[in-house]
Amino acid sequence: MFGLMQDWPLLCHRIIDHAATQHAARPVISRSVEGPIHSTTYAEVRTRALKLAQRLDRDGIKPGDRVATMAWNTWRHLEAWYGILGIGAIYHTVNPRLFPDQIAWIVNHAEDRVMMTDLTFLPLLESLADRLPTIERYVVLTDAAHMPATPLKNAVPYEEWIAETDGDFAWKQFDENTAAGMCYTSGTTGNPKGVLYSHRSNVLHAFMASLPDSKGISSRDVVLPVVPLFHANCWSLAFSTPLTGAAMIMPGAKLDGPSVYELMDRYKVTFTAGVPPVWMMLLDHMEKNGLKLPHLKRIVIGGSASPRAMTQTFQDKYGVEVIHAWGMTEMSPLGSLCSMKPEYASLSGDARLDVQVKQGHPPFGVEMKITDDNGKRLPWDGKTFGRLKVRGPAVARRYFKDDTEILDDEGFFDTGDVATMDPQGYMQVTDRSKDVIKSGGEWISSIDLENLAVAHPKVAEAAVIGVQHSKWGERPLLIVVLKKGQTAAKDEILGFMQGKIAKWWLPDDVAFVDEIPHTATGKIQKTALRDRFKDYRLPSAAA
Ligand code: AMP
Repeated sequence: MFGLMQDWPLLCHRIIDHAATQHAARPVISRSVEGPIHSTTYAEVRTRALKLAQRLDRDGIKPGDRVATMAWNTWRHLEAWYGILGIGAIYHTVNPRLFPDQIAWIVNHAEDRVMMTDLTFLPLLESLADRLPTIERYVVLTDAAHMPATPLKNAVPYEEWIAETDGDFAWKQFDENTAAGMCYTSGTTGNPKGVLYSHRSNVLHAFMASLPDSKGISSRDVVLPVVPLFHANCWSLAFSTPLTGAAMIMPGAKLDGPSVYELMDRYKVTFTAGVPPVWMMLLDHMEKNGLKLPHLKRIVIGGSASPRAMTQTFQDKYGVEVIHAWGMTEMSPLGSLCSMKPEYASLSGDARLDVQVKQGHPPFGVEMKITDDNGKRLPWDGKTFGRLKVRGPAVARRYFKDDTEILDDEGFFDTGDVATMDPQGYMQVTDRSKDVIKSGGEWISSIDLENLAVAHPKVAEAAVIGVQHSKWGERPLLIVVLKKGQTAAKDEILGFMQGKIAKWWLPDDVAFVDEIPHTATGKIQKTALRDRFKDYRLPSAAA
């Protein structure tokens, strides 16, 4: 027997409808790419998104077609998302920070028909246009006055393009499982993979993201999404902010410390979210200039581990609660947030920070398990680590145009991270599964060893990789960049680590290098290191 409740499909455009009805005058303020601050409201964003939808529809964009956006966080980019998905087409966010070859590959794989872009990226797109045959038109997110001459196909300024509609248009209605958005994973190995969000997954994820133990935002908040719309579905902020009716402050192209601080201070921002490097710049600016942010209550830090010292500075010096978060593109992206359950709520000082370095607990809608290589579940004791696997309505089950099975027989997706779970259900990432060192059937966390090595006063950066070993399979090799002007012997570094980790975790050797290679997103490029050291013979393997 079915329930007798209404059929009300979970469609993303219902979120902007709700914001425009219930929070019509709430401000949406942006630093425009042209320079000046721009102010609008949810009601106006919806009206203009409808015009955009009407224009796309008139131009022959059909349900299921992909419309690319390569743009900063502004009101126009927000309108583009809702306008595209509101006719059943798919917003495809393209990360401009990827290598040009990757961008061309992604746009071709997605077969994007329209490219909506900021002025910033015109030179990049002009250099790539010959290799983007599926793009029929470039819409530049600006007005006629700021539109430069460009050879891009059918290039038109956004404002003129949507002005040619009368706004007499209604959203299309369709099944809630219809695709809404698309984002490719950065893929440190192989080709990028397309993750295809549905209306239903985005709406459910926006609910999960807004819960009090998640971001906990409300209509009384002023939210500044520092995380770009092109990074992992903007951590849901393009949906959860209008869903809750919070005001929205968009930073545009300027993510440096002074620019972000200026917006936070001027508009009394209460909540923000982004990756550690941005907060490093903000803290640096505040510390150098003796500034405070008395209105800022909570900050979500994720994308990579939030450094303990950063969490401590925000909390102790500035009175801002840090919520460490973990997730991935395939998870829409939020997987866990480190808010305090009652068991931990009374902790303070170092004991509290010990919890906050963990990536946190999943909201309803994300199930987690950790397993060994054979898929056997491992205990939640806070010590045993295994492959972290997840299941839920906003987790990918396939990649775009790829038939590979990516779920296990219980329907869980392997995140590629290695983690512990503690008895309270808090997850802590200890490594990426391809980076963990497998020694004699046991696992050694490369991240733990790296963190320990960089605590040595002479070490600037450290990376640990597994090197072939006849007896143990693999053993850890520590690769070190010393601080400028420093010299150190291997034993000095290893001696420092001894006693602080299990004896069998101690690296078998140390290699000093001038530089450690990094990926486009700033992560250590372990593949390049493994390649470079593939014939390395450890002293312990000599016999
Ligand atoms: P992406 O899909 O590009 O957002 O990358 C997802 C990956 O980033 C995850 O699988 C983790 O390896 C890493 N990551 C994200 N958040 C964190 C975090 N808080 N701590 C450690 N690693 C993280």
